[in-house]
Amino acid sequence: MAIYDIVKYPAAILRKKAKAVKDISGYQRDLLDSMVETMYNDEVTVGLAAQQVNLDIRLIVIDARDKVGLIKLINPVIKRVEGELVSMEEGCMSLPGITVSVFRSPKVVVEAKNERGQLIEIETEGFLARVLQHEIDHLNGKLIIDYLSLVKKALFSINYKLKRKLS
Ligand SMILES: [Zn+2]
Repeated sequence: MAIYDIVKYPAAILRKKAKAVKDISGYQRDLLDSMVETMYNDEVTVGLAAQQVNLDIRLIVIDARDKVGLIKLINPVIKRVEGELVSMEEGCMSLPGITVSVFRSPKVVVEAKNERGQLIEIETEGFLARVLQHEIDHLNGKLIIDYLSLVKKALFSINYKLKRKLS
């Protein structure tokens, strides 16, 4: 296992649609375990997508610090969402120092494969539903800043570039 470096915005890989995983072997399980180690290395992080550690494949790990605990998913897909959108401030390891208020569905049904290659379905609500949507967004090249209005997004990119120059 290894702790990966986190890829930061505006790295191109964060904007790519990640490739589906075809075979699930020891190699993929090792990648998932290293992603878990990387996630736990930061105490506030509740989820990580493979692009954030520079892997162009559809893997996510989540631990929303709830009774469900650790989840490792391969090729996750949102099958269904339910309920009126709810807004909450979200952060992202790839966008340090920024939070964005994001509207998301309160309930989701996600289909994925587990580490053993079995098809599983997760039906959940609340915070875990939000984290699942955030991480699956990553696999599709979508980031929290995409939920900003156009004006706010323009301001964000000016400020972010300035900050990077100064630091
Ligand atoms: Zn993120």
